[in-house]
Amino acid sequence: MKNVLDAKSLSKLYETDTTTIRAVDDTTISVAEGEFIALVGPSGSGKTTLLALFAGLLDPDKGEVSINGQALNQMKEKQRTDYRMRNIGFTFQANNLVSYLTVQENVELMLQLNGRLDKAGKTRVTELLERLGLSERRNNLPSQLSGGQQQRVAIARALVHDPSIVLADEPTASLDTELAYQVVETFADLIHEQKRGGIMVTHDLRMCIYADRVIQMLDGRIDAIVSDKGTINAFANQSRVLSEPDQVVA
Ligand code: ADP
Ligand code: MG
Repeated sequence: MKNVLDAKSLSKLYETDTTTIRAVDDTTISVAEGEFIALVGPSGSGKTTLLALFAGLLDPDKGEVSINGQALNQMKEKQRTDYRMRNIGFTFQANNLVSYLTVQENVELMLQLNGRLDKAGKTRVTELLERLGLSERRNNLPSQLSGGQQQRVAIARALVHDPSIVLADEPTASLDTELAYQVVETFADLIHEQKRGGIMVTHDLRMCIYADRVIQMLDGRIDAIVSDKGTINAFANQSRVLSEPDQVVA
């Protein structure tokens, strides 16, 4: 199976007045087509920094990230921005929907930014909204939706431009358990069906039941990897919510 993401020996340091923080410390991860990964670990363990490195939104101090075999770090800024727009989908802790655009317009916006709001694109918007149970809400504004529905719109937006990999930072942070299960299950199904790669950061270890692999971070490094389905299920079923979602660092 083809890898959609290869990250080799990534390190990212933050210098503060008094100290150097090793936010990500010599981390190597690959994600295959159709693979859904849960990225877990305590607050401050480097999960968000890692996603930003994967997306080429941050430059690593060491190491390299390739998406579909193309090294992000070797691209010029403009080329990398274009590549990111075409190949990577995102959802964030806050869903970042545009408040004055409807559900459909929010999803279409991603295609418009890519210059791909053509007939095929519009069909994909319709299909995704249907698949995510949002067809009847397509003309509503985000404020008229529940939290779970808003996160589903964010997921539609992260998938609609046909990215190779989707990065989701705590997509269920604002949802109650029942809704969180539903959102993550649909998300995982879509990653599997559409043969994309997916990485979801979550504090709620119960959500790991939908993952093909669980990667646990500690102090910027990979502390454990679990890929056996039985072990993942046991781990998820025994778990309580680990702690509060990460603080968003401005
Ligand atoms: P997580 O998402 O697992 O909570 P982060 O990637 O946000 O972890 O942070 C990893 C470490 O890097 C933490 O110690 C955090 O305080 C630090 N950090 C993150 N962003 C910055 C920044 N912009 N400047 C300085 N330190 C940062
Ligand atoms: Mg975080």
